[in-house]
Amino acid sequence: MRLFVGLALPEAVRTQLAGLAGGIPGARWVPPENYHLTLRFIGEVESWRAQEIDDALSAIRARPLELRLRGIGTFEKAGRVQTLWVGVEKTEGLIHLQGKVETALQRVGLEPERRRFSPHVTLARCEKVTAAEKLAAFVQGNNLFRAAPVVVDRFCLFSSRLGKEQAVYAIEAEYALG
Ligand code: ATP
Ligand code: MG
Repeated sequence: MRLFVGLALPEAVRTQLAGLAGGIPGARWVPPENYHLTLRFIGEVESWRAQEIDDALSAIRARPLELRLRGIGTFEKAGRVQTLWVGVEKTEGLIHLQGKVETALQRVGLEPERRRFSPHVTLARCEKVTAAEKLAAFVQGNNLFRAAPVVVDRFCLFSSRLGKEQAVYAIEAEYALG
């Protein structure tokens, strides 16, 4: 199965993010039930390894943390926007948890993550956007976006089934913080 470690978002935040969606022809908006913050992408693993990963994540001890969402950003490839997202402040608590997850996964033999941790919540995938000016206007128009801080008291192991339109995520395990 395809796995990743992340944070589910409280309903209030998802509702607020859903209010941003729309107005960019061709963008593939993430359905609100799919909003999440990826702490660590794992990818395809066999079930015995998923079990080891679950054991390793279960052993993590960390405090609940406050999530602060703000601003809009994009990931680009070859000068074209691929992903549109809301930024998440790199607070101490979040970095601490992400570091613990990374260490735990390396201990069970996963290759180190080479990309820099860039916390975000993906709003849309933009491969086939037809109106680049609409996308630019969205980023400019929503750059001051801020959500009320929310406390997160668990992190999750998600499975991801890639679909034609949208991936389907399922929470395979939850790990309490605190
Ligand atoms: P799709 O690939 O169909 O657009 P998705 O990206 O939501 O769907 P996955 O590819 O399974 O689904 O990714 C799950 C999560 O992990 C997403 O938050 C995605 O951005 C992130 N992710 C995927 N691949 C990587 C990677 N190589 N490095 C870091 N994060 C990744
Ligand atoms: Mg993907």
